[in-house]
Amino acid sequence: MSDTIFQKIIDKELPADIVYEDDSCLAFRDINPVAPVHILIIPKKKIEKISDSSQEDKELLGHLFLVAGGIAKDLGIEDAFRLVVNNGAGAQQTVFHLHIHLIAGREFQWPPG
Ligand code: AMP
Repeated sequence: MSDTIFQKIIDKELPADIVYEDDSCLAFRDINPVAPVHILIIPKKKIEKISDSSQEDKELLGHLFLVAGGIAKDLGIEDAFRLVVNNGAGAQQTVFHLHIHLIAGREFQWPPG
């Protein structure tokens, strides 16, 4: 199967506005933001979607959430942000490399659309 856009960003074959990187994950600004702050946090490991993750990914998944919280703190938005994970085409997932959307800077509605 051909590489996803996000794999190309991990491999630095495609440019991205990277805000955080470490050995196991990468965070960069969404190219089509739905809010003033819209950052994607992705594992470097190839996992298509959250339902494909397993026990062995436990630490990595926890790490992604800690990184998201850290970025929110760094940006001063720790009191009002939303984390979203779309799982599967039926839930509007369009890039099949696991990612957490970090969204902030506007009013939110509940339930989400
Ligand atoms: P999802 O619909 O949950 O799969 O989210 C995929 C997200 O990736 C969308 O919000 C897109 O705007 C975003 N996206 C697609 N291509 C790029 C890219 N080259 N750089 C940054 N974000 C991207």
